[in-house]
Amino acid sequence: MKRNVLKPVFCLLMLLLLKSIVYAQTPRFKVLALYSTRVEPDHVDFAKDAIKFYTKMAAEKNFAFDTSTNWENLNDENLKNYQVVIWVNEFPHNEEERRSFEKYMENGGSWLGFHVSGYNDKYTNWPWFVKFMGGAVFYNNNWPPLPAKLIVDDNKHPVTRHLPQKYIAPINEWYGWKPNPRENKDVKVLVTLSPANYPLGKKDIIRSGDIPVVWTNTRYRMLYINMGHGDQIFNSKKQNQMFEDALLWLATKK
Ligand code: ZN
Repeated sequence: MKRNVLKPVFCLLMLLLLKSIVYAQTPRFKVLALYSTRVEPDHVDFAKDAIKFYTKMAAEKNFAFDTSTNWENLNDENLKNYQVVIWVNEFPHNEEERRSFEKYMENGGSWLGFHVSGYNDKYTNWPWFVKFMGGAVFYNNNWPPLPAKLIVDDNKHPVTRHLPQKYIAPINEWYGWKPNPRENKDVKVLVTLSPANYPLGKKDIIRSGDIPVVWTNTRYRMLYINMGHGDQIFNSKKQNQMFEDALLWLATKK
């Protein structure tokens, strides 16, 4: 008799327990990180570190983080599975992948691009992407890679709210842009290279100019981050916090 009463209670408890386990394991969102191993060694080093960083974060913050070196995964069918796509150290070179990405972004997808993933010049032949970047076309860079003083334009934005107004970023190759994306009224610049760095570089020298390093084109759910060269990028706790905040902002942006 006693057993018969306890049995349904036990079953109910087991069900509740199971439900809470399943709920806890359901990822909050899904991220696809695309990268390449057939690019500049410094960019491959960055990709390895970035994947390690976001894999750890995914476990802590309960989201799915898939990685791939196969850019054919940039197709309509596969993109339906993801709330955010990260280009770690490369961009798509063929028309099919580019069209799928355009469709994804025009229909509310999110993109986080690091360093060379935002690179474009007169040979890239992708006008949509230039518009998407807020008009920014690669103009110049410093060499060798160096640390740099950065100015945080907005300390209230969800991406940069944990950063101080100024900080020194770890060694990176910094890119200048012409046109400057800040000239676009839809662009919100979040972090800028401080003019106090100039002249920056030895072989290739950035001598002057207003150079945004983190910005969003507010017409899309997108964020470009210029950091991404070499194996020192994740050496700043403050900056790492921004990398986390950036992904969370994109994944949860309404
Ligand atoms: Zn680079």
